[in-house]
Amino acid sequence: MITKESPKMGMYENVQHQFNKAADIINLSPAVRKILSITNTEIVVHFPVKLDNGTVQVFTGYRVQHNNALGPYKGGLRYHPTVDIDAARALATWMTWKTSLAGLPYGGGKGGIQIDPNLYSDAELERITRRFTFALGDNIGPEHDIPAPDVNTTPQTMAWIADTFMSTRSTNERTKYSHVVTGKPVGAGGLEGRDRATGFGVVVGIQEWANHNNYELSGKKYILQGFGNVGYWASHFMRAKGAVLVGVQDASGSIYNSDGIDPESLFEFTERNNKCVAGYPGASPYPQADFFSLDCDILIPAAMGNQITAGNAHSIKALLVAEGANGPVDSDGSEILESRGIAVIPDIYCNSGGVIASYFEWLQNRNGELWSLEEVMEKLEKKMKKSYETMQSIANKYNTDLRTAAYIGALQRIEQAYIQRGIFP
Ligand code: GLU
Repeated sequence: MITKESPKMGMYENVQHQFNKAADIINLSPAVRKILSITNTEIVVHFPVKLDNGTVQVFTGYRVQHNNALGPYKGGLRYHPTVDIDAARALATWMTWKTSLAGLPYGGGKGGIQIDPNLYSDAELERITRRFTFALGDNIGPEHDIPAPDVNTTPQTMAWIADTFMSTRSTNERTKYSHVVTGKPVGAGGLEGRDRATGFGVVVGIQEWANHNNYELSGKKYILQGFGNVGYWASHFMRAKGAVLVGVQDASGSIYNSDGIDPESLFEFTERNNKCVAGYPGASPYPQADFFSLDCDILIPAAMGNQITAGNAHSIKALLVAEGANGPVDSDGSEILESRGIAVIPDIYCNSGGVIASYFEWLQNRNGELWSLEEVMEKLEKKMKKSYETMQSIANKYNTDLRTAAYIGALQRIEQAYIQRGIFP
């Protein structure tokens, strides 16, 4: 089921497993290995918020800063019941690898609030977000740690964070801090195209994989888990490639139509239906538990972590899994996919379009520039193609799968920074 993390293996254990595999292959410097095996800083805050009914609730928020050898900590904030220290650690660590592989001047961080946002009004979510930002205080900052959207957080959430952060600085400094968060609405310092960047990047990744493997995307069937920002935009760009969406799953249910589901019409439906895909008239309901065994060529998990496990990896029909989500395949699932010859485009590459566009937004704010949509999409495509090349050439050199190659590329860049800079004092 989509909203449950597998209880068998923690997400952090999964990320450590992937890290150790790559570190062994390149014989990573023992000092760097020790440093990267643990997070730099872990912040847990408890903060009170007055609800609409007048009562006060105390919420728990997290921000984990894994590593900043290459630049400020960077990564999203997630509002979800599964947010805990283990998830924040894993997600922060993945951000370090993601930004390094993408060649960005950033480290990795992640956090969020353990909350089901559906249970709160917009006014409550605004107060929760502002009070969380206040509780984080100087632990975030435009040259220190830069949050962004993630599961259940939106451009609006980022605008509240930016406004709160800026309003709580001293008077003469307020306006220069809009790059304390990225993923803001375009009218509030956001970047044209940041909304579609992750989904677009997923499709660039699939296209690069297809080019490399002489595979034609047009007419191919794919299924999609998650129809949020990443899932919708991925399906929008997959349509332009002529690929056919045949199944979609979200927390509300699974839907299937072997003749194809039009992503735009599904999007319009979800906008009217509480963002849920269940009940979409252009497809039939499908049992949640059997979703991954649907007949298709490509599977795009774009929801939560630990979805593809030993429990379902054997039944997957797709020949390619493109990880739009962070950590959607656990270690057991990964081994099974590999033994079955199913290719995986790894999360730290596949969904890096989001943080690459965040970097553009940060630059735009920092330099007082305004970039056009065309400029953004062109630069983003170029960067995604370059990272694919890097990952593929490492895979060829070390004869590894793409995930291990992506890790090797990420680790080597960080290792070099530590070796050149040394360890203080
Ligand atoms: N939350 C996104 C991710 O997991 C974006 C992070 C960012 O833009 O900083 O990559």
